[in-house]
Amino acid sequence: MAAALRGAGGRFRWRTWAAAAAAAAAGGVRGAAPSAATGRQDYDLLVIGGGSGGLACAKEAAQLGKKVAVVDYVEPSPRGTRWGLGGTCVNVGCIPKKLMHQAALLGGMIRDATHYGWAIQPVLHDWGTMAEAVQNHVKSLNWGHRVQLQDRKVKYFNVKASFVNEHTVCSVAKDGKEIEGALEYGITSDDIFWLKESPGKTLVVGASYVALECAGFLTGLGLDTTVMIRSIPLRGFDQQMSSLVTEYMASQGTRFLRGCTPSRVRRLPDGQLQVTWEDLTSGKEDVGTFNTVLWAIGRIPETRSLNLEKAGVNINPNSQKILVDAQETTSVPHIYAIGDVAEGRPELTPTAIMAGKLLARRLCGQSSDVMDYDNVPTTVFTPLEYGCVGLSEEEAVARHGEEHVEVYHAYYKPLEFTVAQRDASQCYIKMVCLRKPPQLVLGLHFLGPNAGEVTQGFALGIKCGASYVQLMQTVGIHPTCAEEVAKLRISKRSGLDPTVTGC
Ligand code: NAP
Repeated sequence: MAAALRGAGGRFRWRTWAAAAAAAAAGGVRGAAPSAATGRQDYDLLVIGGGSGGLACAKEAAQLGKKVAVVDYVEPSPRGTRWGLGGTCVNVGCIPKKLMHQAALLGGMIRDATHYGWAIQPVLHDWGTMAEAVQNHVKSLNWGHRVQLQDRKVKYFNVKASFVNEHTVCSVAKDGKEIEGALEYGITSDDIFWLKESPGKTLVVGASYVALECAGFLTGLGLDTTVMIRSIPLRGFDQQMSSLVTEYMASQGTRFLRGCTPSRVRRLPDGQLQVTWEDLTSGKEDVGTFNTVLWAIGRIPETRSLNLEKAGVNINPNSQKILVDAQETTSVPHIYAIGDVAEGRPELTPTAIMAGKLLARRLCGQSSDVMDYDNVPTTVFTPLEYGCVGLSEEEAVARHGEEHVEVYHAYYKPLEFTVAQRDASQCYIKMVCLRKPPQLVLGLHFLGPNAGEVTQGFALGIKCGASYVQLMQTVGIHPTCAEEVAKLRISKRSGLDPTVTGC
């Protein structure tokens, strides 16, 4: 989450309130006059939130000669987990997630290795060793960000920011209060990457990116893992692909409770968590016990404590996100919002970084380019990775009509799966195109190993307006999974078997 602010025609003011005033503010007396002992500094650009977007924007603006400050503070999770500079991606998102995903994939590779002639003794996984190594890497990234800010002379304040008016932001106390109740018996993805010990038998509640990725690596690490899906998995993604993602996870041992939502969690005398849930179809209640309940039911940006109303910045009261236009401008012309905090933006690190850099360049008069949020590629790092760019089949049909959409698809077998005798039933690719020649590519969906690496390359072509005809003129690299994209000959409409056979 990051909000960038700039003093209109002048400077932005940062007030550090005296300790007593700050403590009072935390108690609810916000807006009290700053004491005479306060520090007051003016900046060209004040960035609230040291996540991917905020740091990128701050560094770019500083490099272009502006006087910049970053204000960042991590509210501890209800379980007390804290972390350093860098935002969700570095600390409790993409980075630890990808490393734990890799840890799980390694387990699969060790099993494959025996088929390739490696004599392997039974191997065990140690959560503590993995967690320590992952956390050490994250801490090195926190440090790296601090150094980069210092090198660029960006002032860093590790405090919570709050608006006084549209040109002044002050710090409020770090209250770090414990929240009891709702999350008493559960953890979130803010905690899972920082656990020192294995979570054991885990119930993951939710069915989006975070839920499925966490459940995927927990299963891969050998833990008994159940996912509770209220409605559909991966809402917003192509639903055929989403089904294949969960089908593969189920084949690897993840359990799914579909159409269910938890109603009660209580701790049993033996320390286990007893979860009661409702089956939304039958209305019946059921019960199960777990060592850990991981809530992955979405996030709300922490805009409330910013006192945005004092600056006149409008938010969507439901999502709590800041309303912005294409220039990332809020309802106040010199206040901007980028990244997850902004309404309607993809909650993805690379879009936040690019938006932050572009915003800094516009603020510094270097460019007028605005962020293009179309054709943003992404990958869900589930056990079988799902990479996509552009429209889902459903979206393409909704926008253009079924008659005008052609879908090419293939079930393929990664070469590395053959010797290892892995089941490849869910390795699938589909390309969604306009039917009219030369058949502009609207979307690409790839399910298989290294999906992020595969999708990234094709994303360039699709961003450049590639057509199906051009993709079929592209020579594949043999033998790879990516080459299957350049060999997609079977359309859904033809009804022919899309299973790839031979080279
Ligand atoms: P999300 O996309 O908002 O999904 C929330 C999930 O929780 C949905 O499956 C929702 O089900 C479920 N849910 C909500 N309330 C529930 C309840 N009371 N009981 C049961 N289920 C409930 O949240 P997210 O997974 O945290 O992801 C947030 C964003 O982070 C995503 O938009 C994504 O872009 C980003 N992200 C990206 C990556 C990546 O790039 N690889 C990885 C992780 C996250 P319903 O569908 O029924 O509402």
